[in-house]
Amino acid sequence: MELNHTHDASVKSWLASANEPGTDFPIQNLPFGVFRRKGSDEAFRGGVAIGDQIVDLAAVAATPVLEGLPQLAAQACAGTTLNDFLAMGSVAWRALRHALFDALRHGAKSDLVGALHGCMLPQAEAEHAVPTRIANYTDFYTSIHHARNVGRVMRPDDPLTPNFQWLPIAYHGRASSVVVSGTPFHRPMGQAMPPGATAPVYGPCARLDYELELGFYVGPGNAMGEPIPLEQAEDHIFGMCLLNDWSARDHQFWEMAPLGPFLGKNFCTSVSPWIVTMEALAPYRVPFAHPADEPQPLAYLDTAANRAQGGVDVQLEVLLDTATHRARGVAPDRLSATSFRHQYWTLAQMVTQHTVGGCNLQSGDLLGTGTISGPTAPEAGAIVELSRGGTVAIDLPGTGEQRRFLEDGDSVILRGWCEKPGAARIGFGRCQGEILPVK
Ligand code: MN
Repeated sequence: MELNHTHDASVKSWLASANEPGTDFPIQNLPFGVFRRKGSDEAFRGGVAIGDQIVDLAAVAATPVLEGLPQLAAQACAGTTLNDFLAMGSVAWRALRHALFDALRHGAKSDLVGALHGCMLPQAEAEHAVPTRIANYTDFYTSIHHARNVGRVMRPDDPLTPNFQWLPIAYHGRASSVVVSGTPFHRPMGQAMPPGATAPVYGPCARLDYELELGFYVGPGNAMGEPIPLEQAEDHIFGMCLLNDWSARDHQFWEMAPLGPFLGKNFCTSVSPWIVTMEALAPYRVPFAHPADEPQPLAYLDTAANRAQGGVDVQLEVLLDTATHRARGVAPDRLSATSFRHQYWTLAQMVTQHTVGGCNLQSGDLLGTGTISGPTAPEAGAIVELSRGGTVAIDLPGTGEQRRFLEDGDSVILRGWCEKPGAARIGFGRCQGEILPVK
């Protein structure tokens, strides 16, 4: 993943809001999503975020502003989902990104500027949908700190399962209940075994939790029976989003022995509307390594390139906005913050592991990284870790409230961004969801 002129931090856009310090969407980002005018019955179509605007790619495709491969790529974004565009692969993704960059930069040709001006909608006037038709959703479990923290709650004597350090663990999740940021959901009903009880109870989830994750979307898929080698894995990844794997811990911990999560996870998963491309993330790649005294990856999960820059340094934070925060007009409280660079396995290793037995990934599939918890206790990516299984109350300084798990009316906001000296700061926007009472 080499740097090119679209990563040049000195380039500004003719769109003033794209040059504001702290914006998530400078010209170096250009994330993709689908949108329509808020409250309308228009068809959703692909768009790219720039500053406080969206470039409508269906409108761009209908003008003569692009030609060749960039035009074909824009046409592939004109439908209600981005699947066709993702299936085109990295040459087409790059061609469209570079064409948009050249048209949006300060000093672009005046006919390009004029044409794009007519293809913009303010983000404040837009609503979103899940950006792809997700046929398959898989959630990994690749933070060793999360695995140890949760393991201590579930299995105090033996928190880390013996397979964790040898392969990226995952379960096959539920694609039908993946929703876009801003979609509320009802507290789930289910079965749980309370501590000390001899028979399970059926009722509303009493231990509702969030999970701070990143998601990543599959570009070109692979044929069944043809695994994706690690050397080629990143060719199959389009980009990343924020992902909240809402979890009913009481239901999950009772049901998931000996199989994986079921009702504890399948009621809702939230994703941010924008997909930040792997090309935009190129300046933020970091080395990957397991500690020298821990198992090293088997050969099929190990390449020099993966060791050199398999990681991604995405800064992340979780905010809690309770009904009381909103009623009092108080800013949300930050629950935790960490970085994805601490993860025990890389995106490429997850793709390769997923397919090594012959499983076929499909364009638009969603893969989750698993909860992202950093090495120190305040960096935990789920409330079950912060509250140590609900035994410690978490203070919310903004309102004076406390939480051990989530309550009705709570809204959880995930945010992510990348920044470092010499590179443009780019952001993921946000992934928000509110818990409604049980139905
Ligand atoms: Mn998860």
